[in-house]
Amino acid sequence: MFICIFCNFYSNYIMYIAHCILMKSFKEKSIAYQKAIAYQIQHKNQQMLDSYMQTYIYIWNLFHVFAEKLKDEYFDSVKSAIIDVVHFSCNNLSCSNCKTHANEYLKENDMNLITNKEDLKIYLWKFHNNVNTRKGVAEYPYDSLTDRYSVMNLKDCFDKYATNFLNFKRDIEHINLMKKWFSICHDYYFN
Ligand SMILES: Cc1cc2nc3c(=O)[nH]c(=O)nc-3n(C[C@H](O)[C@H](O)[C@H](O)COP(=O)(O)OP(=O)(O)OC[C@H]3O[C@@H](n4cnc5c(N)ncnc54)[C@H](O)[C@@H]3O)c2cc1C
Repeated sequence: MFICIFCNFYSNYIMYIAHCILMKSFKEKSIAYQKAIAYQIQHKNQQMLDSYMQTYIYIWNLFHVFAEKLKDEYFDSVKSAIIDVVHFSCNNLSCSNCKTHANEYLKENDMNLITNKEDLKIYLWKFHNNVNTRKGVAEYPYDSLTDRYSVMNLKDCFDKYATNFLNFKRDIEHINLMKKWFSICHDYYFN
């Protein structure tokens, strides 16, 4: 009887220790698993954020280079196409907040009132600065526009912009139309 109780006590004790060890290892494994999942999500979010940021930079570059490289005398020929590119881009921004504000800006600042290349440059510069201000970033100086954008290659900017939008599978037909238009408009632009 005594031995039985003793055995029983020890076997329960051993079971208890085994249980603790198992639970501890289970808990550790579960924490490690949760950490791995959290890391993967964070990494994926960061990758998405980076690709969004890259998209935005391609969009701004194309806007400013379009304006910078346009030959003055061809403004009227390209005006509606440029307005279309700007509206299309703003309607297809990945961040819905940015999209809402960009479209509000376009509504309040009618691009159809722009009458020449210089106005177009100023319009896009102010538009970009408006976003900078919303982000709490310093305004970009107007005097720096030509230095930055005159050295960029328009075709290169357009290709990056179009490829990036296509990667995000945005309105492929519209982008192909833009590509067609772009392929016939080089005379209107300095390289
Ligand atoms: C149409 C549009 C609307 C957006 N709206 C929002 C928004 O509401 N909120 C938000 O957080 N983000 C918004 N974004 C994204 C934001 O503008 C930036 O592109 C993004 O935050 C990355 O910033 P960045 O520091 O890399 O430089 P960016 O702002 O992308 O600028 C790239 C480079 O352009 C030059 N630059 C800066 N300002 C000007 C200017 N005024 N004129 C000419 N060149 C300039 C500088 O050399 C700068 O390094 C928007 C983007 C687009 C295209």
